[in-house]
Amino acid sequence: MHTMNDDKAGFGGLQMLDDGGAGAAAITPIAPIAIEGWAAPRTATTAAGDGAHARVLIIGSGPAGLTAAIYAARADLEPLVIAGYVPGGQLMITSEVENFPGFPEGVDGPALMANMRAQAERFGARMVDVDVESVDFSVRPFRLSAGDATYTADSVIVATGASAIWLGLENETRLRGRGVSACATCDGFFFRDKKIAVVGGGDSALEEALFLTRFASEVVLIHRRDEFRGSRIMRDRAMAHPKIRIEWNSQVSDVLGSEKVEGVELTDTATGEVRQLPLEGLFIAIGHRPNTEVFRDALEVDDKGYLVVEDHTLTGVEGVFVAGDVHDHRYRQAITAAGDGCRAALDAERWLVEQAEVVPLAESIRIPSSPSP
Ligand code: NAP
Repeated sequence: MHTMNDDKAGFGGLQMLDDGGAGAAAITPIAPIAIEGWAAPRTATTAAGDGAHARVLIIGSGPAGLTAAIYAARADLEPLVIAGYVPGGQLMITSEVENFPGFPEGVDGPALMANMRAQAERFGARMVDVDVESVDFSVRPFRLSAGDATYTADSVIVATGASAIWLGLENETRLRGRGVSACATCDGFFFRDKKIAVVGGGDSALEEALFLTRFASEVVLIHRRDEFRGSRIMRDRAMAHPKIRIEWNSQVSDVLGSEKVEGVELTDTATGEVRQLPLEGLFIAIGHRPNTEVFRDALEVDDKGYLVVEDHTLTGVEGVFVAGDVHDHRYRQAITAAGDGCRAALDAERWLVEQAEVVPLAESIRIPSSPSP
């Protein structure tokens, strides 16, 4: 099974691509590009700590960040990706992805991300596996601190994603991908004719519960209070659905099962009574947290902390673009994030052309032996 909207914690499969592993502060040097007709890199790579400069600096290495890196690299912009201490994003703790186009048999999340990264590196993207600690978008070039180094950039693409909020139970973490999920769209298919539960009382939980009735024999909606937070229409639909049963005033206090989910322990929030509920799948739908802490003073965020965008990828700061779940709480899919990364790279490139920072578009992407799709 797979868990597309999981958070990034605890998995570092992409480290195999780096000599230094996660946390290595050395920039992968720009590899000579062995494609006939490809222009040689125009800027030298500098080591981290020496004030590396990028024409396009991408923060984040999930599908949005790496797709942006592929497009920017193929446009000869030599992007620098600040990939994070745990690179790869939410798909890194996803065992199987069946809805990413191009993989009829499905693909492992870490393998998909490793391929995206290798594809970006093949065209000259540089990767640094550190977290961005602070940004200053009030000066040009923009300045960012990450690891022990300060980086400067002519343009920036923010693609730091969002993390699912979990209950925080030890067995919930242990059984993630083995019956515990935070994404019904991704994993519902694996629970045909099974009894499952959804935790939460907001619109996400109600929507996921309704979606999961397509597959499951029974969906138990577990909510800690005696009324839903979600909208009226969703509440009415969920409460009227014959396959949905509601456990009010109930908090999941443990997840049961050794190899896979076999049930949950519920604690009554009114009486404190503890009981067990057997089931085979547990969907946590208690919200997402956008990874926007370091941008709060530099870019506009909405009341939930997501970055505010205009016209698909633009922010209030010219030259700073946004892609993926860090602004998109509606779709939250790998493929939509990837599409967003493409948009952001194209917008960054066009903006740089306008700023006369790079050669005109037609020249910069002329690759006779490797036509663009
Ligand atoms: P949300 O509205 O913040 O709801 C989170 C739910 O999870 C609440 O019911 C909350 O309980 C519960 N919860 C939080 N922490 C918990 C914990 N530790 N243990 C147990 N339960 C916990 O989040 P959301 O449902 O993801 O929605 C986020 C936003 O997106 C909302 O504005 C929503 O309307 C919107 N949205 C819209 C749609 C749609 O229109 N189709 C679909 C999805 C989301 P309490 O109620 O007790 O606080």
